[in-house]
This record gives sequence, C-alpha cells and structure tokens, in this order.
Amino acid sequence: MTAESAPIPDRYDPAAVEQRWYPVWEQRGYFRADPTSPGKPFSVVIPPPNVTGSLHMGHALNNTLQDVLVRMKRMDGFTTLWVPGTDHAGIATQVVVERQLAAEGKTKGDLGREAFVERVWRWKEQSGGTIIRQLKQLGASCDWSSERFTMDAGLSRAVREVFVRLWEEGLIYRDDYIVNWCLRCQTVLSDLEVEREERDAEFVYIKYGPLTLGTVRPETKLGDTGLAVNPKDRRYTEYVGRTLEVPSVEGTVTMRVVADPAVDPDFGTGVVKITPGHDPVDFEIGRRHDFPIRTVIGFDGRMTALAGKYAGLDRFECRRRIVEDMKVLGLIERIEPYRHAVGVCYRCKTVVEPLVSKQWYVQVKPLADEAQKAVREGRITIIPRGWSKTYGHWMENIRPWCISRQLWWGHRIPAWHCEADGSVHVSRTTLTACPTCGGPVRQDEDVLDTWFSSGLWPFSTLGWPDHTPELRTFYPTSVLVTAFDILFFWVARMAMLGLRIMGDVPFRDVYIHALVRDAEGQKMSKSKGNVVDPLVMMDRYGTDAFRFTLVALAAQGRDIRISDERVEGYRNFANKLWNAARLVLSNLDGYDARRARKAPPALADRWVRSRLAATTRTVREALRRYRFNDAASAVYQFLWHEFCDWYLEIAKGPLYRPASPAERLATQHALVTVLETTLRLLHPFMPFITEEIWQRLPGAGESIMIAPYPRVRRGQLDAAAERDMAAVMEAVAAVRNIRGEMRITPGASLPVTIRPAPGDGALFAATAGLVGSLARAEVRVDPTAARPQNAALAVVGASELYVDLAGVVDFAAERARLDKEIRRAADAVAFIEAKLGRPEFVERAPAEIVEKERQRLHEQRELHRKLEASRGWISDGG
Ligand SMILES: [Zn+2]
Ligand SMILES: [Zn+2]
Repeated sequence: MTAESAPIPDRYDPAAVEQRWYPVWEQRGYFRADPTSPGKPFSVVIPPPNVTGSLHMGHALNNTLQDVLVRMKRMDGFTTLWVPGTDHAGIATQVVVERQLAAEGKTKGDLGREAFVERVWRWKEQSGGTIIRQLKQLGASCDWSSERFTMDAGLSRAVREVFVRLWEEGLIYRDDYIVNWCLRCQTVLSDLEVEREERDAEFVYIKYGPLTLGTVRPETKLGDTGLAVNPKDRRYTEYVGRTLEVPSVEGTVTMRVVADPAVDPDFGTGVVKITPGHDPVDFEIGRRHDFPIRTVIGFDGRMTALAGKYAGLDRFECRRRIVEDMKVLGLIERIEPYRHAVGVCYRCKTVVEPLVSKQWYVQVKPLADEAQKAVREGRITIIPRGWSKTYGHWMENIRPWCISRQLWWGHRIPAWHCEADGSVHVSRTTLTACPTCGGPVRQDEDVLDTWFSSGLWPFSTLGWPDHTPELRTFYPTSVLVTAFDILFFWVARMAMLGLRIMGDVPFRDVYIHALVRDAEGQKMSKSKGNVVDPLVMMDRYGTDAFRFTLVALAAQGRDIRISDERVEGYRNFANKLWNAARLVLSNLDGYDARRARKAPPALADRWVRSRLAATTRTVREALRRYRFNDAASAVYQFLWHEFCDWYLEIAKGPLYRPASPAERLATQHALVTVLETTLRLLHPFMPFITEEIWQRLPGAGESIMIAPYPRVRRGQLDAAAERDMAAVMEAVAAVRNIRGEMRITPGASLPVTIRPAPGDGALFAATAGLVGSLARAEVRVDPTAARPQNAALAVVGASELYVDLAGVVDFAAERARLDKEIRRAADAVAFIEAKLGRPEFVERAPAEIVEKERQRLHEQRELHRKLEASRGWISDGG
C-alpha cells in the first residue's frame, strides 16, 4: 500500500480503513510483548470486564484511555504489555445460565452442581467474551496472546495458593458472623454490594414493661435477647443492670438491660432492643454483653420455629401480624410514618436480611495498613489526588472481608470438612480423607467472592506463583486506569494482596476517570432510555472520531457528557485531516526528500515546524500527567487552526503559483514532514486514519504504530519565526476585519499600505507578498507613508496599516448605513445604562441576569466604538 499503488480516495471511509488495519497490526505481532526485549517495561492490566458483558460507554472510555497510553509508550520504545482478559463474575454469570435453565423449565438443583458448572463453562465458550471482539473494534492494542480469564487453570492455581498462604498465616478464618443475606440470590453480599434505597416505613413504638422503644422491624422482636441504653443517658440509669419481666405477644419474657456506647440516645426513645441474630450493631453489642443469638428469620426469609406461632410466615407478613397482635394486647404506644434508607441487594434490589452464619473471612486490617502506607509514602500515586483521601479513609475503617459466597460458579473454597470429627482442613491439593483421623471428608460448598480472584489480577495474569519472565519484567505494572466506583471493590484489594503476596505494589499509578453521562449530564440507564451505545457511535461516525471525543472530554474530576453533536464534531476533524492529507499527497510531483532537505525553508515553513514542536511538548507533558483532554486539545488546535487554516493556505502559494524549484521543494518538504510527525503525534488517539494516511506518505516505514513517538529536539522551537509569523497573521487578520466591517466583497483585491515601525521594515518587506496573498491585497511597505484620505486604519504591533477604500466602497451608502447602526448601538447603550441605573433592578434581579446585562452593555459599547472608527475612515468627503 504505497502512494504509487493507490490514489487517495476523495472521501474518508472509516469502516473500510478500520477493518483493514486492525488485523494487519495483530497478525504482524505488534501488540505482543517480549519480556526479554531490552526496552524499559511499561505494563498495564485491563480492568477485566465481566464475561457476560458487552461494551458500554464506561468500557469504551476506560479502554480508549489505556490504549492511548499504551500506544504512546510502545512508540516511545518501551517494552509494552497490555494484558486483556475477563472476569468470571460469580452472581452475574450464574444468573444468566439459571435464566436459561428456567426457560427450559429446569433449576440448577435439577442438574446438580457438577453438571451445572459444566453448563456454565459451555455457555462461556459459546457466548462469553463478546466484549473481547468489541474491544478489538475499538482499536485496543492488547496483547491477545496473554489474554486471561479469572477461572482459567493458571489463575485458579494462584487463587488456591493465596488462600492457603493467608490461612497458614492466620489471616483467613471461619466465624459466625452477621452477614448481609440476599434471600433472592441466596448468597452473602459484602457491605459494598448493599445499596441504600429510600423507603417509606412505619416506626412502631413498643412497650417493654416500664420502657418504650421504637423500631421499623417489629418482627425481629421475636429474636430479642436484651435491651440497651447509652451509659450517659440519665433517664434510664436506674434500669441498667436490671432484668425486667416484660409482657409480650407470647406471654412474659425476661430482658436484661445493659449500657453500651453504641446506642444513640437521640434515636427514638433512647432505648433499643438487642436482636443479635438480625442486626449488625446488635450483633456487636450482643457479643460485648454476652447476649445469646436467637435466629427467628431463616435463610429463605420465613420465620423459623423459634418464632412460635409465627413460624413459617414470610418476614413481612409476620411484621403485619405481630403489629396487629400487639395492638390487641395494648403493647403499642404509637405508630409514626418513617422514611429511611433500607439496604437492598445491588443486583436484585431485594431488601437485605442480616443473618448470622458460618462464613470465611480475611482479616484485612494488617493488609490495609500496608496498602495505606504505600499511598501515603508515594509508592502508589492516585490521580486525581483527591481520591487518596477517600482511599485512606476507607482503609482506616476497614472491616473483616467476608469472602465466601453461596454460589456454584466460582473458585470453590479449598477446605475440606471431616464428617467424623468435624475438623476443617485447608489444602493445596484435593483431599479424599481426613488428615487427622482418616475419616470421610467433603469439600466446603461455598465459592470465593469474585473480587478475591480479581484482587490477584496484576500478578496472577503474569504467571504467578511461577517465577515467569513476564512476572520479573512487568510487575509492578505501570498504571491502572479505572473508574472510581471500583476503587474499593477492586483497587484497594489489589493493593492489599499485591503488597502481601508479592511484597511490592501492584501498580505505580492509579488513574481514576470520570463517568460517561448523557448530553444533559444524566447518568445513563436503560429505564431512562438515554443509553448511548458505543457500537452505534463507532458505526455512525467512525471509531477514531468516537475515541477522540472520549479523550477530548476526559478532563480530570469532571464527568463526561456525550452527545451525537460532539462525536460529529470530531468526525469533521477526521475529515479535515483527510482533506489536508489529500492536498499534500496530490502536490508531491517532483518531490525528493534528499534534495528537499537542503532547500532553505521560508518563514512559514520554520513557523509551522516550531508550532509542531511546541504542540509535541504540550501533548507529551499532558499525557505524562494524565491530562488527556489537554493533549487532545493541543493536537486538535495545531492540526486544524495552525496547519490547515494557516499553513496549507500559505503553502498553496509555492505549490500552485510559479515559484523557484527550491522554494517549492522546501514547501513540499515542510508539508510532508509536518504532516508525518503530526500523524505520529495523533496516532494513539486516532489509530486508524493516521495509519491509513501515513502509509501513503513518501518514505513511510512498516507501520505508524511502531514508528517513534515525536520528541522535541533542541533548536526545534524557533522563537524568531513565531514572532515574525505572529506579525504576518496579525496584519492579515487586520485586513480581513476591515473587509468584514466595511462589507467589501471577498473577491475584491484591496490596496494596502504598511508603515512599519522602526525595526519591522525588513520583516514586512520580506512578507508583503505573503500578507497580500493571504489577505487578497496589494501590499506596499513604506516607512514614510501617511494615511491616505478615506482609508481604514489598523495597528499591528507598533506598525500602522492602511486600507485605501476609494473605489472599493460606495461612500454615500456606507455613511448612511454606519450612521444608522451607530444610532442603534447608542440607543442600546443608553437603554441598558438606564436599566442598570435603577437600584431596584440591580438589587432584585437574579445575579446572573444583572451580569448578563453588564456583559451586553460592554458589547454594545464596543460595537459603538468600532462603528465610530469605521465611520471616521470615511467621514471627510469622498
Ligand atoms: Zn439479590
Ligand atoms: Zn477427621
């Protein structure tokens, strides 16, 4: 594919270009990382999407940002590894397959554990990993040869090894604990998996003998084993330590009253009942004061046998009944409406029931201390900085991590229970008999929390526990790019486990990006119908335009608002680039790079090279600091406004008009080299179009994606050229303004005289032709010129510029028009001044309205001043 073999098409066709290049890159092995390469390592692990997932806007943003960094570093000569993969996603995947079974009229119980797990694997092979194909469509340059899955053999081995080690170190233990139980999903949820939802409820004040207390869950009354008050609450001092005989729904019960600082004296009556079996706070108070646990609600959400006559009732049905019964018995003082936040399952929104059960835990406190220290000491840098505080606070208050889940799909806990003596044995290998008594054993039924395996991701994917070359070269990884909503679920756990198991941080930098919202700033949701599908965007506007939009909007700490208009705008940018490339490519006849290098560059050639160098510096600096939007904006501004708007216009001179061969050659050379370098600079953002154009340039190498990323060398910034070009551009802009203000047709050539300030004579003498061709003017430079009669005046730096209007403007008509407009502007000024002069307006109107009026006043005054100036140019006859 060279310039000779195929002329560049008139229109840019993203679909064709994208389909062509991705397979080429992949087949040539550019994405693959060789750990024995001499380059400095740069490594990234992908936040593994759920294997059930398909690409949404969050993925698109997350992976585009990673790809920008990875492509840039690869071009910069680093040995670059981007590890892709997917997460087995415990609940999510199990639910998908259970639904399939339900459609066949079956349950997972009908299949049995082994057959069910087999069925999930089959589903994974056939339907999982849609998202991998979509990532390729996005242009993600992952090393697909190192793709991993959290349940593959290697990672499963890593999971088991870590579990056994933590057990041996006493950091994993089993305990009765109060957990968040989802009745529908039939599993434990971590605190992070419980969402809060505002709900209306009833606050029921129940009499407990001489005391009264309020509750929103009266059914848990059946599980009460004590009462508590705050030790500082004087109202109840006399009851503390006493045992009360309290009439209740099933006769009289005895209740010990204790004082505990966990009780809030301002909540309700200041007395609380202690139900250790059904409330996490009560569970802790119960432990402190030795209250027994009474489980009255079962794992199915129905009342247990301990609930007496309510046994078998659904928990909410029981709530209704018990309130009625208490009313009859006169045990209710009053009922108040109450709105409060209820914990619900993040997946199915069922109200979570706190229940006590035997679970597996990690004692994370010592791990959290290390992980917190790593951030405090700067071994891990979180960007933007503000997140470090949130991270630190969470680590500070961390609780034991419940890692067991009552699912079938996941890493089964490597522990065996002896059926003879009840002992528990954790083992790296499968046990068939009890190591102590030789009796029969059965493996623990539970699987591990999905985050347990993804917490190992930065080293398990590199081959740990084996000491692989990949692990030696690429751990710690360079940067983790992720959204803030999994900072604790995932980032914190990777930090804890990486430090513990590897003895070093899992990543040096953590870049936390914002959320993608709709054009109005609303969170996208299926129910709102405002979900933007990245695949549709890529299809409609091209992948490069879509990627560039995401990067251009990825400002730190600000959510991204995406809309069709935005992406369309960057499609125009892609088209602009394409057209610029066409112009360059169709004017290269006779171009010879070797000879061209010797041709002396013109001012504009030097200028455009200097601007490119400055842009390169900005882009590099911005990417180094993860200021993606600044990088995108710099390259956009340069390419559109400096290269296309100015330089291409200037270049048309030597290209189209008779010019000396050397001048033409110098221009061609600047065009080719600047375009080529800009393409490399832009490649990480827009990989496809840049490769397509780059391949057509003379002297192109194998692929732009392995060409060097532009660097600024000494001497490339040319301050003199920038200063001189600034004067030229200012002069051109001045003539264009006058043309606009005096309504002179664009085609008319204007007679322009420049009276240069001392010192600028040579500059304007040398650039008169350039200013003239860009401004459509006949430019004369005369240090002694006086302003002609009826001439427009502009000041450029310290020089003066006159445009002779005689014969170009119809003075009579123009005078009439200007007079009318001057009157109109003056009226507007007077009107707004009067309005702003009224104190009742300034004081009562909203601040932004007043500010708007002030702005309008400023604009009208400015307009008035300009019109007066124009009028001045033609005021004295003619
Ligand atoms: Zn649920
Ligand atoms: Zn045994």
